[in-house]
Amino acid sequence: MHKFNELLYPWYQLNQRELPWRGVSDPYLIWVSETILQQTRVSQGLDYYGRFVKRFPDVNSLAGAHEDELMKIWEGLGYYSRARNMHEAAQNIVKVHNGIFPNQYDEILKLKGVGEYTAAAVASIAFGLPYAVVDGNVSRVMARYFGISEAVNTTTGQKLVREAANELLKSSLKSIHTGIHNQAVMELGALVCTPKNPGCGICPVAESCHANLKKIVALLPLKNRNLKRSVKYFNFLVIEHEGAYFIEKRTSPGIWKNLYQFPLVETPSELKDDEIINLPEVKQIIVWSGSSIVNISQVYKRVLTHRDIYARFIYMRTSGVMFTDKNFFKVNKEEISNFAFPVLITNYLRKSGILPGIR
Ligand code: SF4
Repeated sequence: MHKFNELLYPWYQLNQRELPWRGVSDPYLIWVSETILQQTRVSQGLDYYGRFVKRFPDVNSLAGAHEDELMKIWEGLGYYSRARNMHEAAQNIVKVHNGIFPNQYDEILKLKGVGEYTAAAVASIAFGLPYAVVDGNVSRVMARYFGISEAVNTTTGQKLVREAANELLKSSLKSIHTGIHNQAVMELGALVCTPKNPGCGICPVAESCHANLKKIVALLPLKNRNLKRSVKYFNFLVIEHEGAYFIEKRTSPGIWKNLYQFPLVETPSELKDDEIINLPEVKQIIVWSGSSIVNISQVYKRVLTHRDIYARFIYMRTSGVMFTDKNFFKVNKEEISNFAFPVLITNYLRKSGILPGIR
């Protein structure tokens, strides 16, 4: 057995966190937990996981869910394509596999939205198959423990990380369940070998860790910083008409697909108040309907992995506007909480008092 594993397993037995999906072998529940935990902290994911599996306890219930209800449960968790993909995958499992979760890695990998990481997690934890998981935690631990000096977000770096993770998994195949091995490595990355201030002083594998012995922990893992970020400027028109608001469902591909929003005017840069007032779309609504602008909000910022979004909300009151665009429909203030909005819009709704919350 590799030295790393010898040191890791006893530590994991004593230090693993108690989490609702620990000790679970139902592939559906493992898939749900792993999908929720992508891009989400465990502390935030716990509540969502509990609500999700209470409402959709198995593949069949998820497959039969109404999309709006699913998005409402997912609201606030972000990266909504995860929920849409799970929905489609569940329907596919019902159709193609008679509702039984596939038990082979290649079949799991074919499910919509399932990448190598999730397929390896489900295959190993639910079925004991020999696939090493590689997520951000594992990449960091491998880079530091083995001293991998390639950037871990490059193809070459990922290949080296994957080889190292597979080598560790293989060295213990006969002595430990592959799912436990994978969870132990991830747990070390989550609890001890953290991105900032790693706990080398209490780390079970410190005595054989390359980065620790060479005193280069702070330098690893290396990352290629040249990933381009894009910036979006959104101006949402919050048009109130007799205590109701016009909203639409986003249908275009993207992270907010199937969520709801107010009429949107996207601009190439951030606008000042007087520039917003002079936007052709705003002027047109004023001319058509005799609307008046009640206020223009502060800037709301949302930072996503590769994108920054800056949004302002232009609150308008009208006695007569009617959208001819069939996408828009009117929702009473009391009903607005039934619709799933992106976090940025929910923050505005709470702050402005349209939804109950802190002003
Ligand atoms: S000794 Fe430090 S750098 Fe090495 S694996 Fe442990 S926490 Fe990470």
